[in-house]
Amino acid sequence: MKTQQKTTEEDIQKWVMKFALEYCGDCWALCCNGQRFLIGWGSDEKQSSELFSELGIPVYRLEELDEASVKGWIKSDYFSGVVRTKSGEPLKKPAVVEHPNCDYINGKHTKWREGTAFALYVEKFCPAYDEEQNKCKVHDDSRRPTGCKQYPVVYSRENGIIKSQIKTSCPGMRRAEGIEDKFKEDFPDVELSY
Ligand code: SF4
Ligand code: SF4
Repeated sequence: MKTQQKTTEEDIQKWVMKFALEYCGDCWALCCNGQRFLIGWGSDEKQSSELFSELGIPVYRLEELDEASVKGWIKSDYFSGVVRTKSGEPLKKPAVVEHPNCDYINGKHTKWREGTAFALYVEKFCPAYDEEQNKCKVHDDSRRPTGCKQYPVVYSRENGIIKSQIKTSCPGMRRAEGIEDKFKEDFPDVELSY
């Protein structure tokens, strides 16, 4: 018989708040240094696409794009590859791109699966990042991608089970010795990927 997962999303949120009290202090990164390539959100989070659209960033649906170029870009973990329209035009950055869902395991995009999601197609900084102020311009907007709001521990439910990932781009996480072991100890029933 399958055992029920005891840990809830609220437990993880509380854990992150506790971590923040101890480690965030005068963090220079302010939860986002903007240099994130791996920012994406689910197709059910239309509000995040609308938020970027309001910032003047074009949003491309998969049906408008050359799917092979989109997949090449995703498989490079958003680092390289040129996304093209169906007619072969390269997209200008920044843009929001709809792409086929892909499992993200151990820091790599692995297997295609059903459905689509959205991701930022950017050169370096997220278009919502204010380089002069070193902070996210939309930090208080509830439409920010879920991954941004959860940072630095992101999590989602798959087949009813919470899976989680600790983001080592967070200076506090890097400073906190043994934090991954502590997470595993506190949430032994959550699968942690890297
Ligand atoms: S980046 Fe990490 S250490 Fe900095 S404010 Fe965010 S959670 Fe805290
Ligand atoms: S929306 Fe804000 S928190 Fe999210 S990646 Fe962009 S600048 Fe960072």
